[in-house]
Amino acid sequence: MSFAASVLTLYPEMFPGALGLSLAGRALEAGTWSLEAIQIRDFATDRHRTVDDTPAGGGAGMVMRADVLAKAIDHASPPGDERPRLLMSPRGKPLTQARVRELAAGPGVVIVCGRFEGVDQRLIEARELEEVSIGDFILSGGEPAALVLLDAVVRLLPGVMGNAVSGEEESFENGLLEHPHYTRPQDFEGRSIPDVLISGNHKKIAEWRRSEAEKLTRERRPDLLRAQPLVK
Ligand code: SAH
Repeated sequence: MSFAASVLTLYPEMFPGALGLSLAGRALEAGTWSLEAIQIRDFATDRHRTVDDTPAGGGAGMVMRADVLAKAIDHASPPGDERPRLLMSPRGKPLTQARVRELAAGPGVVIVCGRFEGVDQRLIEARELEEVSIGDFILSGGEPAALVLLDAVVRLLPGVMGNAVSGEEESFENGLLEHPHYTRPQDFEGRSIPDVLISGNHKKIAEWRRSEAEKLTRERRPDLLRAQPLVK
């Protein structure tokens, strides 16, 4: 059973985009996951194929219509579809590696990409959309956010990453940022690789990496330490 992604967008040409290359692209070709980009405009009912309208209460910009989006969602995700329905949104819960893992373990996702000022609130409620943010900044549309989310999910699908171990030691997987990396040459512009890493002492190396990871996390992301008290 492969992971099935359906993306509802006004710009289906943006998909698979970057996900057609490299690891994700190969996995897409191999059928490890599938991607369907659905044009929301195809579900408009008027002659001009309108998908947005002016905001109730006035103000700048346009709002995506609930009725058109509902038709698109019902087409992409008919009753019985077990996949979570997400709405990319700066007001959403920030995406975490834990949520990415959950999604990767499931049957797939249906993702709605917003444009303009966003979507009619009644649509979010009526179709029980889970709002997901990729960070505290504003994009011009949900498409790059959907690509980011799918990239994070797809690399966790079985068989996508060559070296499965590397996934488990990465930033966030154990509540810490990852330790620094080095590779040849041994001398780079007068900077050398830390001695411990070429000592061959695996216990010492593991200790050094752990302590570097803790130091880095304390300096840059103390919030991660507070969120998840270290047990190891
Ligand atoms: N007026 C809105 C921003 C709209 S941006 C507000 O102030 O909250 C247009 C669309 O881009 C959104 O509907 C959403 O789908 C997408 N988007 C923008 N920033 C995003 C973010 N940080 N994470 C996820 N999606 C985002």
